[in-house]
Amino acid sequence: MARYTGPVCRLCRREGLKLYLKGDRCYTGKCAIDRRAYAPGQHGQSRKKPTEFAIQLREKQKARRIYGVLEGQFRGYFHKAARQKGMTGENLLRLLERRLDNVVYRLGFATSRPEARQLVRHGHFNVDGKRVDIPSFLVKLGQTITVREESKNSPRIKEILENRGSKTAPAWLSIDVTANSGSIIALPTREDIDVPVQEHLIVEKYSR
Ligand code: SF4
Repeated sequence: MARYTGPVCRLCRREGLKLYLKGDRCYTGKCAIDRRAYAPGQHGQSRKKPTEFAIQLREKQKARRIYGVLEGQFRGYFHKAARQKGMTGENLLRLLERRLDNVVYRLGFATSRPEARQLVRHGHFNVDGKRVDIPSFLVKLGQTITVREESKNSPRIKEILENRGSKTAPAWLSIDVTANSGSIIALPTREDIDVPVQEHLIVEKYSR
């Protein structure tokens, strides 16, 4: 399963905003966006007016990078969203939110989506009692994600669970802190999804 393996802070600088890809570090003064708030590369500080195409492209790239999805798979989500009833842009975000790595992150079992992806790949979670190690697995309404018993001894999982504190989950998820589990109680609406993406620009980009 392919994934981006380059420097992640560069992605935030490219999009001009924090994408929170490095967990706790993103909240410290070490954040690259706070230190160098311009795009990377030789022309990073030039001020050319972006074209309509460039604006749409940036919005699509931003969404891809927030959820850690490569181009081909992202396009697949778009086509799936377009076939569903309702607004394509909202359907697209809803599909991305239902990815197992995103749900794990939203439940507070990881400090960033990239970390959630890694923990899922390492098989630390059950979905409805069965081990699932596919980050792109789409969690269905009513399904429950639990930290596996064996994984509670993993130093990183222990640390995350100890530091979860009173972190709350979004309204479409319910969390059981004592059982270290959470479920989807409703499909997320656009208001529930706090990602800074203008999804209509992505729809325009793919509709060209
Ligand atoms: Fe982005 Fe986090 Fe790096 Fe800041 S520290 S640039 S928010 S990944």
